[in-house]
Amino acid sequence: MSAASTARRRRGADELDVVAFERGSITSYAACGLPYYIGDEVESAESLIARSPEQHRANGIDVRLRHEVLGIDPGAGRIRVRDLDAGREHDEPYDRLLIATGAAPLRPQLPGIDLAGVFGLHTIPDALALRARLDGAESPARLRAVVVGGGYIGIEMVEALLARGCTVTLIHRGEQPMPTLDADMGERVAAALRALGVELRSDTDATGFVAGPDGRVAAVATESSEVPADVVVLGLGIRPRSELARDAGIAIGAGSGGITTDSSMATSAEGIWAAGDCVETHHRITGRPVFVALGTHANKQGRVAGINLSGGSARFPGVVGTAITKVASTEIARTGLDEREAATAGFAAVAATIEGSTRAGYYPAAAPIAIKVVAERGTGQLLGAQIVGGPGSGKRIDAVAVALWNDMTVDDFAQLDLAYAPPFSPVWDPLLIAARRVADLV
Ligand SMILES: Cc1cc2nc3c(=O)[nH]c(=O)nc-3n(C[C@H](O)[C@H](O)[C@H](O)COP(=O)(O)OP(=O)(O)OC[C@H]3O[C@@H](n4cnc5c(N)ncnc54)[C@H](O)[C@@H]3O)c2cc1C
Repeated sequence: MSAASTARRRRGADELDVVAFERGSITSYAACGLPYYIGDEVESAESLIARSPEQHRANGIDVRLRHEVLGIDPGAGRIRVRDLDAGREHDEPYDRLLIATGAAPLRPQLPGIDLAGVFGLHTIPDALALRARLDGAESPARLRAVVVGGGYIGIEMVEALLARGCTVTLIHRGEQPMPTLDADMGERVAAALRALGVELRSDTDATGFVAGPDGRVAAVATESSEVPADVVVLGLGIRPRSELARDAGIAIGAGSGGITTDSSMATSAEGIWAAGDCVETHHRITGRPVFVALGTHANKQGRVAGINLSGGSARFPGVVGTAITKVASTEIARTGLDEREAATAGFAAVAATIEGSTRAGYYPAAAPIAIKVVAERGTGQLLGAQIVGGPGSGKRIDAVAVALWNDMTVDDFAQLDLAYAPPFSPVWDPLLIAARRVADLV
């Protein structure tokens, strides 16, 4: 809908018809806010809707809800559409097409995965179903919740379920939660979770879901035991929903499975663009394609596609891998490459981790912060950073993201004129100390 709105703003109704097919019933909502709706920090699911279908229609976009696109015929310039309510199919012609089919949550066919009480969290209807379960419980405080998957959605769901008074177990693969951090930084997240009373089952795969006498889920099975559960939330990752493009003969990235585009978001097929979670994108540091499904990129790519398919010229310059989340008061952020990614990309990397304080040590509410900086040996090129710490820690990552974007060395970074006053930072910001520490190792 970013692309549709951009195209509509640029060209009047006399020049361009804009039609959007959506198989669901909602448009333009912030999935990013769903965990906070579950946790009751956001009061209503409606408030997550940035623009309703009616608002889009008032802006001259012909939104067709409950219409699923079944196929694309690039040669003939038409798509096959099914009206899900009427049960009818028809062909719709186009001059220019945007594919923005998003990503699909992974839902492995484990025994019992469809039991009542096992929830995913990808859409507003998913969130309403989970909220209904939590709100309908006699006392949510008695509910035993198990989150399966320790990525950022799993972590955000742990926070939400704790906020609702549940006891929470996190089952995750790997040594530490947050696989987008190096294990030593992931361990800090694990410590924060344990301090919140979360039971961690590390290096553990869910192998199935066990029904209780009432037919609802009663436990999550693992190789070694069964973990009692009244509510299960899955956060097992996602994959690009690129089947429509693949079936139409459009190029798909071999490694990522996302639709391949150039920087204008054009696909390999004439007159067809793609944007959002269904595409692979350019990583500015490795120079390789990468699948990073984030709303921040989806919105920018949608705007770029909207400009280009309405006759303008814009480009999406790629990503550096910046992301942020939190669990309770612990903020977690990363950008660029972690040590493992740097090695995989062929960099000889050095890294340093420092522990500091978010504010001047004497100032109230100063909190611990740990920062790890990764650089290239020899050149001192900044490659990435990870942050885990108290309030005020996470958004510090933006300074590193800007530096990465501009190919800075850690030596240069350590000289930066960053803001200082006691309520915000120690006189030497921990970022500068971390950069200096790694610069000494380069
Ligand atoms: C719980 C959660 C938390 C998140 N938190 C963050 C965050 O903090 N920060 C961040 O940057 N990102 C976050 N994201 C990711 C962000 O929401 C996505 O990157 C973004 O929504 C992608 O937008 P999109 O338009 O590509 O896909 P979507 O928003 O998934 O939209 C795709 C649409 O296409 C429709 N569709 C698919 N196939 C068809 C078809 N064949 N015919 C018709 N319609 C079809 C779908 O119904 C869907 O409505 C989060 C996501 C979730 C689920």
